[in-house]
Amino acid sequence: MTVKKAVVAGAGIGGLVTAIGLRRAGVDVTVFERRTEPGRLLTGGGFMLWHNAFLALRRLELDEQVGAVSSEIFFHEFGSDQGRMLARWEIAPESHRIRAPAVALRRSDLNALLLEEAGDSVVMGTRCTGFEQDPEGVTVLLDDGSAERADVLIGADGMRSVVREALRHGHDLPPRYAGYTAWQAIAPLADETAVPGGTFFNLWGRNGLRFLYCRLNENEVYWDAITADRTSTAFDMLRKNKRAVMSGAYAAWPDPVPRIIEATPDEAILPVDIADRPPGRELAWGHGRVVLVGDAAHPMTLNLSQGAGQAIEDGVALSGQLVRESDVGAAIAGYEAVRRRRVDAMVRNAYRIGTLGKWRGDAACWARDLVMRACFGTLAKRGTYRVMMDFTP
Ligand SMILES: Cc1cc2nc3c(=O)[nH]c(=O)nc-3n(C[C@H](O)[C@H](O)[C@H](O)COP(=O)(O)OP(=O)(O)OC[C@H]3O[C@@H](n4cnc5c(N)ncnc54)[C@H](O)[C@@H]3O)c2cc1C
Repeated sequence: MTVKKAVVAGAGIGGLVTAIGLRRAGVDVTVFERRTEPGRLLTGGGFMLWHNAFLALRRLELDEQVGAVSSEIFFHEFGSDQGRMLARWEIAPESHRIRAPAVALRRSDLNALLLEEAGDSVVMGTRCTGFEQDPEGVTVLLDDGSAERADVLIGADGMRSVVREALRHGHDLPPRYAGYTAWQAIAPLADETAVPGGTFFNLWGRNGLRFLYCRLNENEVYWDAITADRTSTAFDMLRKNKRAVMSGAYAAWPDPVPRIIEATPDEAILPVDIADRPPGRELAWGHGRVVLVGDAAHPMTLNLSQGAGQAIEDGVALSGQLVRESDVGAAIAGYEAVRRRRVDAMVRNAYRIGTLGKWRGDAACWARDLVMRACFGTLAKRGTYRVMMDFTP
């Protein structure tokens, strides 16, 4: 191992997992996070982690801790906006076969756990602004005017990564807007008869609307309302009154959808425009002593619930390569070689699924329901598991 000192830009999931992997191997790591205090990181809604994310967390012996703050998923149920079940995946046998669960959890719980594990390596309130590298090392530039020298810089600074921008010398294409917005929230809803635990519900409707929800614990339900562009433009103008507009859009949807929205405080609803980067146009994830992980490298749409899972896999794979290889360049090349094909497939599949969700008309959505009923329980499940479990960190 030649890496003695590493700098990570960004204390999101990808950055923290990479930092933890390196620290465990004795590397001196500093993580710079632009946000000012840990509390400000601990926002955001719920989250799903599939089996592969759990297997990756197990490499760092974090799986049991994450499991302890999670709720296991036993079924993934697809339905229509008219209350018809389209498919139901039994997850428990897969968890048994793979020996790792699929779970739902609060994003803030995962962040808190990883932050604690990363310990005093995290410096809050410091933004990376760029870097300069030479054959001996990399100098990371910080917004307070200071700089930090390291053997490697890991850009884990998310979708609009500054490290990525500097790697591309300012000539990067912007992320691709997928044509829909996800309105995510956690609702205080204790009624287990309305939303039973253990099932992830995935409802597809007309007019480019979808609604996903899942019980997080006995008191809370997390949800994402996904609205295709025309509707979200109307919503955007009314962001101050999000719950009322959501209630209107989903009023005719089957119970418990209107009830979940009604139970949610307006300020808990957080809209995010969904974007990715198409793999075909991608350049390398690293150059010299600088490398990207997670959304900085390969943002994907939320349709496979895999963005964070892939950031975790990246962190485990990259820290492993940096520890094993005697040359930083070879480690970065090795990391991309094991990760690229798998992640590209995820990005493409997630984008395709999202395109189906934008359909509006009755006839098109009726045909989509028919296809989902015919093949989502079998072919789509097999395909998803094949992509998901093709896993070599
Ligand atoms: C609505 C929605 C639902 C989702 N659901 C799921 C799901 O169920 N399962 C799943 O696996 N994934 C899901 N995802 C995807 C997942 O959220 C992301 O892929 C994941 O958060 C990426 O982690 P990251 O660490 O790469 O980036 P981020 O989480 O974006 O973290 C980047 C960090 O870097 C910091 N930062 C930014 N710039 C700088 C800088 N210049 N210097 C220092 N720090 C900086 C930021 O403050 C942030 O803390 C979802 C995404 C959305 C939008």
